[in-house]
Amino acid sequence: HSGFVAIIGRPNVGKSTLINEVIGQKIAIMSDKPQTTRNKIHGVYTKDNSQIVFLDTPGIHKPTSKLGDFMVKSAIGTLGEVDAALFLIDASEGLGGGDRFIIEALKKVKTPIILVMNKIDKIEPEALLPLIVQYKDLHDFAEIVPISALEGNNVNTLLKVLAGYL
Ligand code: GDP
Ligand code: MG
Repeated sequence: HSGFVAIIGRPNVGKSTLINEVIGQKIAIMSDKPQTTRNKIHGVYTKDNSQIVFLDTPGIHKPTSKLGDFMVKSAIGTLGEVDAALFLIDASEGLGGGDRFIIEALKKVKTPIILVMNKIDKIEPEALLPLIVQYKDLHDFAEIVPISALEGNNVNTLLKVLAGYL
């Protein structure tokens, strides 16, 4: 189970926190050098014989300029080249326009998208299901996994689910 995984989501949803939690002390590569003009490697997770390369795709948000529009298209291009993508959302904030914009953009790719509902430590357990229903209504996600990146809850499950797509 080795492959490339893009991490997408609005600012502050917890992308960096998740990567830190996953990579932990096992950092193999951590580089800010652009891998291509549009990707940068966020981190590499290595366990046993498998290796997962996490790619940052910073460009997916509602563009406010021509440059922004270019970045969105580049990010979509990246999504077409990876084995799977993690779409992080902040479960404590609810479904807003930022997430709706990203979900629209996701419809252009065939790559399996795993919806990662982060920050579940901040919500009541019974608030989760209605939120899942809202997101499911908008897109046919390959999987839906609730986590707390900060507390490390369910992150191992997420890695196992992800491995099934690599
Ligand atoms: P990014 O912009 O998507 O990379 O988001 P960051 O990883 O920088 O996180 C933004 C903020 O959310 C930081 O203050 C994190 O500590 C916080 N955060 C991230 N994950 C969680 C979580 O699972 N639970 C809580 N309560 N806070 C989180
Ligand atoms: Mg970050």
